[in-house]
Amino acid sequence: MNFETSKTLFKDAVELMPGGVSSPVRAFKSVKMNPIFVESATGVMVKDVDGNEYIDYVLSWGPLILGHSNDQVVKRIQEQAVKGTSFGAPTELENKLAEIVIDRVPSIEMVRFVSSGTEATLSALRLARGYTDRNKILKFEGCYHGHSDSLLIKAGSGVATLGLPDSPGVPEGVASNTITVPYNDKESLKEAFDKFGDDIAAVIMEPVAGNMGVVPPVNDFLHFVRDITEQNGTLLIFDEVMTGFRVSYHSAQGYYGVTPDLTCLGKVIGGGLPVGAYGGKREIMEHVAPVGTIYQAGTLSGNPLAMTAGIETLSQLTEESYDHFNMLGDIIEEELPKIFEKYSEKITINRAGSMIGFFLTEGPVKNFDDANRSDLDLFARLFQELLKEGVYLPPSQFEGMFLSTAHTKEHIETTLKAFDNALRRIKSK
Ligand code: PMP
Repeated sequence: MNFETSKTLFKDAVELMPGGVSSPVRAFKSVKMNPIFVESATGVMVKDVDGNEYIDYVLSWGPLILGHSNDQVVKRIQEQAVKGTSFGAPTELENKLAEIVIDRVPSIEMVRFVSSGTEATLSALRLARGYTDRNKILKFEGCYHGHSDSLLIKAGSGVATLGLPDSPGVPEGVASNTITVPYNDKESLKEAFDKFGDDIAAVIMEPVAGNMGVVPPVNDFLHFVRDITEQNGTLLIFDEVMTGFRVSYHSAQGYYGVTPDLTCLGKVIGGGLPVGAYGGKREIMEHVAPVGTIYQAGTLSGNPLAMTAGIETLSQLTEESYDHFNMLGDIIEEELPKIFEKYSEKITINRAGSMIGFFLTEGPVKNFDDANRSDLDLFARLFQELLKEGVYLPPSQFEGMFLSTAHTKEHIETTLKAFDNALRRIKSK
């Protein structure tokens, strides 16, 4: 397997764009190699510019829950493109996607479409602050909610992957209004509320953390957060940009039976095109302009191509899709540890629906500190060897693997064999 064309393209790219990429983790820095440049992808297979093919567990970082270039999604996008790509005016498509989202996500009575997950979370926070007339927000260490100033504090994802401190360029005044506490830590959360409760506009959280690897809530943590926010007049925002329509048919909130005040969505609802959304109780959402005074807008918001891809993607998902994810996930959860045991290496697997996180450390992994115990050198070597075996994982220990309806038992079996081969080579070196 050679990566010569990718190497040449990357050499050009670093002269043109910072790090040669449009988003940091794509640069493969933490896995210590040059990135592969993608040529095309169909179903679960990604093909790079050198003609190598891989079983994909990145799926564009989550959106492609039906796999790449799903026939019907592509067809609908083509049909819509002929009718027009953007109008900056209302379309029936927005009504249709809104109806599906409202129908499936328990907390959402009204929704506003935006163009990315980052926009969804920053808009939801502005709404929460405007609605409660409070300044502070609380987030959990290792949760990533996009790159807006007040959320780039102790964030996971690329910030964790690259070991960056809280980003320069975030003003102190902004950072001082963000309180952070460890995930799954009831005591620390209670202390924060004892101290700042009167001024916390919102708690924003991933109901299953997916940006420090996959870390589900434990010990009824979500109910605890729901109760304490309610008692303090604080809004609870679930950032379901990653978990939305991935953890279950009714998203993470449906699965865990906890209803937040506001929910942020992205990724899957755009079926691979740029979309985000935030929604929640009608009474809160009606504070958004033009009904209310809290301003938020977007030239390409509700874009017809993105709405079309989202409608088709969500329409193809059924309750059975999640049975399929669970069936495949169970196999990985059961078989992967056996392979690691064979080579005397540690692994902890955390899973929620079609999100799977494996950590190269002993469990349990319940928070960011636990995740940080992982063997990052081994992860890098494993990533490289798996690529040679034709398996493409997210290039970071702090990102989860994703499944799609296009993944089959055979893909999982091939992947498990690839792990076995990769570990054997690593251990024999
Ligand atoms: N929230 C969560 C939970 C995410 O996982 C992400 C992206 N990985 C975002 C927000 C930001 O979304 P986007 O990259 O579309 O801005």
